[in-house]
Amino acid sequence: MLKKVLVANRGEIAVRIIRACKELGIKTVAVYSEADEKSLHKILADEAICIGPAESKKSYLNFKSILEAACLTGCDSIHPGFGFLSENPSFAKICNEMGIKFIGPSAEMISLMGDKAVAKRTMKDVGVPVVPGSEGIINTFEDAIKIAEEITYPVILKASAGGGGKGIRIVRTKDELMKAYELVKQEAKKAFNNDDIYIEKFIENPRHIEVQILADDFGNVVCLGERDCTIQRKNQKVLEETPSGVVSDKLRKEMIDISINAMKHVNYNSVGTIEFLLDKNKKFYFMEMNTRIQVEHPVTEMITNVDILKEQLKIAAHEKLSIKQEDVLFRGHSLEVRINAEDPKNNFRPSPGKITDLHIPGGNGIRVDTSIYSGYTIPPNYDAMIAKLIVYGKDRNESIQKMKSALSEFVVEGINNNIEFLIEILNNENFINNNYDTSFISKEFGY
Ligand code: ADP
Ligand code: ADP
Ligand code: MG
Repeated sequence: MLKKVLVANRGEIAVRIIRACKELGIKTVAVYSEADEKSLHKILADEAICIGPAESKKSYLNFKSILEAACLTGCDSIHPGFGFLSENPSFAKICNEMGIKFIGPSAEMISLMGDKAVAKRTMKDVGVPVVPGSEGIINTFEDAIKIAEEITYPVILKASAGGGGKGIRIVRTKDELMKAYELVKQEAKKAFNNDDIYIEKFIENPRHIEVQILADDFGNVVCLGERDCTIQRKNQKVLEETPSGVVSDKLRKEMIDISINAMKHVNYNSVGTIEFLLDKNKKFYFMEMNTRIQVEHPVTEMITNVDILKEQLKIAAHEKLSIKQEDVLFRGHSLEVRINAEDPKNNFRPSPGKITDLHIPGGNGIRVDTSIYSGYTIPPNYDAMIAKLIVYGKDRNESIQKMKSALSEFVVEGINNNIEFLIEILNNENFINNNYDTSFISKEFGY
């Protein structure tokens, strides 16, 4: 087993990783920026090292300080969490060259599956249906026009290194394409330091359905079913659930079989998520793969009783998967909402600051993954997500009732948050009746 893990992240995911390590008897080292002096992950880890100033580039993205911290404390591995360095092949490569296990797939695998344009080509080659579009990245504006005309408008321009809903633009005409081409390139350069872009057909009114993969070093691949992440604002997930109300047993089996087969073909060996779009005719298309743990992994844990984080640690320690596909059972229903420090009434402007009072709900089937506490000050430098509230119910209806009840109890004072907005979503008739697609929030609420 691993002996000592450096957690190269912050917030709730850093806390989640530390807890999983503790349960497995693994020591942990937290790294934190000057803005995170008072953070929970720093407090909960066995050791903690400051790696630089607030700015991510100088701390959570700083290879040198993180690797120095790992060497100094004698860590045998690094868990990158999500965001930050989690899908950075250069970082994974350096870790492994230094004899520190990067907890995730190999650097080559991250390059192959973590880069969106490359991944699409790879998946197409192994027989997975992909969203029609360019073969890899596009190099000139002329190529963009040519492909757009072939696949017909509307199309979507996407940053190949993109994530978190950024670097995506829908284009309905040639004129719009002209403007969007340079804009997306600039955005991508700024956000991801990589201006590679690709183009694909804009699928109208889809559902976002993804599947959870576990794969070990011995060629064993298990799929833990789907998550429906259709409720999004500006291409960023807001609420996630499993099972999906639009996936039949037959469709689920088809998605699982195709995904397992693809992962076996590329020799994938870590946890990962394959994201699909499901169109109105229930045809699914591969969109991207996340070669890391995802924000919404808890809903799958709730209905399968598999601890995905512990499995990820065991896979990194070169252990065999402890479950087989036949052992995977789906029981009940689970919902997750992302609680953000933001102001829905002010265009969702981030709302950092001091939490003056906090009440976290509990009870049967309620799980809260968070790093906030009463008196904690949310720094302005990072993502706005401050907590995830996850519920387990015997069916979708019970989950919705439980979620509403838990949210109505949740109190976070001193800052603005989206709790009221989440309750509005749960009260919406179309949401309740499963009658929605990725445009739900913009259609129903105008956001
Ligand atoms: P998930 O796929 O797990 O739902 P999100 O897309 O919500 O993840 O991203 C989780 C976190 O990681 C967010 O803070 C997001 O901004 C960040 N993130 C995701 N992908 C990238 C990326 N390629 N570069 C930088 N940050 C990213
Ligand atoms: P990210 O890396 O930011 O998660 P994705 O490629 O997964 O980016 O896309 C994020 C979201 O944008 C999707 O969940 C979906 O709602 C929307 N989207 C992306 N590609 C398309 C497409 N071709 N057609 C329609 N919607 C899309
Ligand atoms: Mg995505």
